Amino acid sequence: MAWFKSIKSKIMIFAILATLIPSLGLGLLSFRQNEAQISDNVARELGALTSEANREIELWLDKRVHEVHVTSTSGAVIDGLSAITRPQARTQPNTVSKHPQALAHYLRSVQEKLDTIRELTVVNAAGKVVASSAQTAAPIILPDEWPPNALIEVLVIVPPHWDRQYASPTLSIAVPVLSYNNLLMGALVAVLDLSTLQPYLKSTTKSPPGDVLLLDRDGRILVSSLAPEDKPVQLDESSLRQLRAQPGESLVFRGMTHQEVIGIADASTELPIIIVAERDRAEVYATWIKLRDMFLTLAGALVVVVAAVAFHMGRSIVGPLQRLIGAADRIAEGDLEVRLAANQNDELGHLTQVFNQMTDRLRCSRDKIMATNQVLETLSITDSLTGLYNRSKLDAILSDQLARFKRTQREFTLLMMDIDHFKTLNDTYGHLTGDEILAVVARILVQSIRSIDYAARYGGDEFIIILVETSVEQALKTAERIRSQVEHMRYSSSGSTITVTVSIGIVQCQSGDTIPTEVFVRADRALYEAKHAGRNRAHCAQ
Ligand code: GH3
Ligand code: MG
Repeated sequence: MAWFKSIKSKIMIFAILATLIPSLGLGLLSFRQNEAQISDNVARELGALTSEANREIELWLDKRVHEVHVTSTSGAVIDGLSAITRPQARTQPNTVSKHPQALAHYLRSVQEKLDTIRELTVVNAAGKVVASSAQTAAPIILPDEWPPNALIEVLVIVPPHWDRQYASPTLSIAVPVLSYNNLLMGALVAVLDLSTLQPYLKSTTKSPPGDVLLLDRDGRILVSSLAPEDKPVQLDESSLRQLRAQPGESLVFRGMTHQEVIGIADASTELPIIIVAERDRAEVYATWIKLRDMFLTLAGALVVVVAAVAFHMGRSIVGPLQRLIGAADRIAEGDLEVRLAANQNDELGHLTQVFNQMTDRLRCSRDKIMATNQVLETLSITDSLTGLYNRSKLDAILSDQLARFKRTQREFTLLMMDIDHFKTLNDTYGHLTGDEILAVVARILVQSIRSIDYAARYGGDEFIIILVETSVEQALKTAERIRSQVEHMRYSSSGSTITVTVSIGIVQCQSGDTIPTEVFVRADRALYEAKHAGRNRAHCAQ
């Protein structure tokens, strides 16, 4: 979760949201509108298709009715029927009515000429078949409302259905057969081949596009604009129910020809059939889906580009910041040897430059303070006149040496040296000359000892030398060397040459020594002995 808290991720999230929200929002809104518009258009077009198909059915049926009507009013039918129903009225020779088979023959000849008619059958007023174009005419049941009120009216006596005998969709219509003096004699029943409607349906689907299906009451497809049906095909139950429940409204359902179709259902005004107009849903939305996918791809690409730019931006901000934080941490820990590359030409680059300047100043100040401290430290342990260690440093050195001696049993020797008759020298040549003599003697001391030894000014004209890991015998030699060098030193001041001598008391550290004073007291006593013995000599304490 820490990832969300970083500036980089916040910039990235902001950039992605700022791109996604408007583009997706506007895009989806317009696509939703487009979809609604497409769906409206398709519904309108499908509605137009069903009306067109309905009109074609009307025209087709009108023509068929006309054909059957013409046949029913032909002399051959009227005479044939009257001859069969009233054999005594057979008066005119050489007519078809002479033989009952003659009527059937006539009907067959008419049927063969009209490919829209599968069967023509004449029944008498009681509904009994008297002649038919078919070998064995199916029994005909005239409906209850037979005869029709107007004697020229046509009745559909068998609704459209799949006819197994003809392997084709058919319906049967009945037309009254009237005698020459308009008395009802019987009926002419025609079995019409509905499949002949297919080319007409097909012509309707050229514009607007789509498929038209004619279904019987059970949802079986009787005729389709696509191809003549050669076997009965059934629309699935739920789709049929839906279509029936919402006539005139476009629905999406599993179609006969495509996986998913948009369809509309309407009842025919002429026949008990359902007209369904449908279109492949995938095809309708193909362009829309292509556009939508293209838009989503573009939006995705845009998000990737924006995310990459935001990532780069975030990194260019956060990278230098993190380096600055790291450097500040190091400074806080006391490391001033930090230097950042300020190669960015922006606010962060400027900040880095300022940071570097600040670090430089800190480093400079620290160096100055350290140098000052060094000077102060040196001053605090140095005697200003001679440059030797001062009294307080001497105490510390001696304490250390005592502790070391206690720890390691490594002996050391202490020399206490005092200039002889220095007061007189001061009085004779002046205090300043006395100072210079003190400095010269100090130089001789420094030159006479090893780097591991210590020389300090004890006070006034007194000096202390600590010879590390040195026996009394060796110390005596060193003391003698110093004494001799001082004795042979010649100092010129205002025309006169000055010589000085020194007396030295030598003491060895002892196991009983715990504090510097104990050693000093013994050294002082040895020095006193040297003075007392006549000065310009070294005396070892017993
Ligand atoms: P002795 O042989 O017994 O040592 O005789 P002395 O005259 O040297 O006697 P003492 O050591 O007691 O005298 C030290 C003199 O050193 C006293 C003081 O005037 C002088 N003195 C002390 N500090 C300084 C200093 O810093 N500069 C100078 N020029 N003289 C100092
Ligand atoms: Mg003295």
